[in-house]
This record gives sequence, structure tokens and C-alpha cells, in this order.
Amino acid sequence: PEPIEKPEKVVLNLEALYDHPDSELEHIAKLARNIQQRRGDYNGRILSIRADDLATLAVVYGTTPSGLVEKLEDYGVVVHDVQAFFAKDGE
Ligand code: C2E
Ligand code: C2E
Ligand code: C2E
Repeated sequence: PEPIEKPEKVVLNLEALYDHPDSELEHIAKLARNIQQRRGDYNGRILSIRADDLATLAVVYGTTPSGLVEKLEDYGVVVHDVQAFFAKDGE
């Protein structure tokens, strides 16, 4: 059977996200920190987020999930290619 088309998984660059403390990304950074705590995932440089959480955040920002992803892209916070991200600065 054909795989059902899924929305692309949204992966955040945490260093870039946490680098804009007083910007409109503040709420997203707070959520990311909270998710890291709940997962016990403290050492990661990136964080994959749930589509559900993205949808909730979009409501907070008065936009749609894809609108929110565009905003995150403008700030350079979205990781599109995880392998390339890790390859960039050498193993
Ligand atoms: P939970 O939702 O009952 O999930 C229990 C465990 O199932 C998670 O433990 C994780 O190992 C696995 N799991 C659940 N959904 C997924 C998934 O989509 N992908 C993967 N790879 N694993 C999944 P973990 O990570 O220690 O999280 C513990 C609890 O923290 C979760 O219990 C949930 O209540 C909360 N949590 C963690 N991450 C998120 C998140 O991104 N959003 C929300 N809303 N809650 C989260
Ligand atoms: P992927 O989801 O494309 O993730 C690729 C790599 O990005 C992961 O390699 C990990 O180093 C990093 N990564 C992605 N999301 C997170 C995150 O939320 N926190 C942190 N700290 N790192 C993240 P890794 O762990 O070797 O996993 C390789 C692939 O194996 C993953 O590709 C995924 O497809 C699969 N995988 C690993 N663990 C799980 C799991 O618990 N559940 C599911 N469903 N897939 C998993
Ligand atoms: P993923 O692990 O590759 O999971 C892809 C999708 O499969 C998830 O999209 C979700 O719809 C479904 N899925 C996977 N595992 C579970 C599960 O245990 N329970 C349920 N109900 N659904 C599951 P979603 O939710 O948009 O999450 C996107 C990515 O965010 C996940 O990719 C994973 O990398 C990360 N993630 C989400 N929730 C958790 C969590 O609780 N713990 C961890 N460690 N990672 C999570």
C-alpha cells in the first residue's frame, strides 16, 4: 500500500532557538525547554517536536502550523536535513 503522506517532521536547532531570548520566539523556546525536561533530553543540539504541539503554538501566534514554520525558518531555527546538520561541523 502507498504510504500516507505525512507532514514533514519539524526539527529545531536549539542553539539558534535559544539565541533569540527576547524575540517573538520566546514562547517556542520555553516549550522546547519544557519538552527537553519531560524527555530527559538535555544534551541534544536539536529537538524534534510533535505536530500537535506545533498546532497549539500556531494558535498562540495567531497563525497556521505552516505559517509558524515559515516564521521559524526566517530565524534560521529549522533543521531541514539532520544528517547535513551533523556533518557540517565534523564528527
Ligand atoms: P507519553 O506521551 O506517554 O510517551 C511515553 C514515551 O513514549 C516517551 O517517553 C517516548 O519514549 C515515547 N514516545 C511517545 N510519542 C513518541 C513519538 O512520537 N516519537 C518517539 N520517538 N517516541 C515517542 P519520553 O520521551 O521520556 O516522554 C515522557 C513524557 O513526556 C511523554 O509521555 C509525554 O507526556 C511528555 N512529552 C515528551 N515529549 C513531549 C512533546 O514533545 N510534547 C508533549 N506534549 N509531551 C511530551
Ligand atoms: P531522525 O528522527 O531523523 O533523527 C536523526 C538524528 O537526529 C537522531 O539520531 C538524533 O541524533 C537526532 N535527533 C532527532 N530528534 C532528536 C531529538 O528530539 N532530540 C535529540 N537529542 N536528538 C534528536 P539517532 O538517535 O541515531 O536516530 C536515528 C533514527 O532512528 C531517527 O532518525 C529515527 O528515524 C530512528 N529513531 C531513533 N530513536 C527512535 C525512537 O525512539 N522512535 C522512533 N520512532 N524512531 C527512532
Ligand atoms: P517520530 O518518532 O518519527 O514519530 C513520527 C510520528 O509517529 C509522530 O509524530 C506520531 O504521530 C507517531 N508516533 C510515534 N511514536 C508514537 C507513540 O508512542 N505514540 C503515539 N500516539 N504516536 C506516536 P509527532 O507526534 O508529530 O512527533 C514528531 C516527532 O517528535 C517524533 O518523530 C519524535 O522525533 C518527536 N517526539 C514526539 N513526541 C515525543 C516524545 O514523547 N518523546 C520523544 N523522545 N520524542 C518525541
